[in-house]
Amino acid sequence: LFGSKEMKILMLGLDKAGKTTILYKLKLNKIKTATPTVGFNVETVTYKNVKFNMWDVGGQQRLRPLWRHYFPATTALIFVVDSSTEGRMQEAKEELYSIIGEKEMENVVLLVWANKQDLKDAMKPQEVSNFLELKQNLKNQPWCVIGSNALSGQGLVEGLSWISSNSD
Ligand code: GDP
Repeated sequence: LFGSKEMKILMLGLDKAGKTTILYKLKLNKIKTATPTVGFNVETVTYKNVKFNMWDVGGQQRLRPLWRHYFPATTALIFVVDSSTEGRMQEAKEELYSIIGEKEMENVVLLVWANKQDLKDAMKPQEVSNFLELKQNLKNQPWCVIGSNALSGQGLVEGLSWISSNSD
């Protein structure tokens, strides 16, 4: 899928968005948990030449400065949202903008997985996209919102393929 490109992907999102399920479904389930410091758990999964680093964002202001360590040389940012919890979408949006507002992340390729599309009343990918106001705000990087169902795997390969063809 990724050819021979060395890639570093950050997969972030609020807790319960579906990040762990996605990695499991992609069969990237040899999760190695590193704990650089107390309270900050980064899970690192390496698949061929692609390294995924993942953690929960949201409500941990004091840990934020530590995240920056993982930002340099990021090929792509994957931001996972739970499309079925409209009540947390604003929080997700704030977290997303705070991450892409960091200097090292300025022009990063961004994939948003609008996850849990199987659930009744889930926001559609287009609705998630509108809510996040990506079209208005992201002018300097490729971005895309893809619907996913981490339980069935629908949308996952499509997302990774998009990253693969939109990163150099
Ligand atoms: P994380 O905190 O972002 O790693 O989220 P998890 O992967 O632990 O998922 C949180 C919960 O949502 C679990 O109970 C998953 O089984 C469930 N879940 C994840 N993805 C989906 C999905 O696409 N559809 C549905 N219905 N449930 C999902």
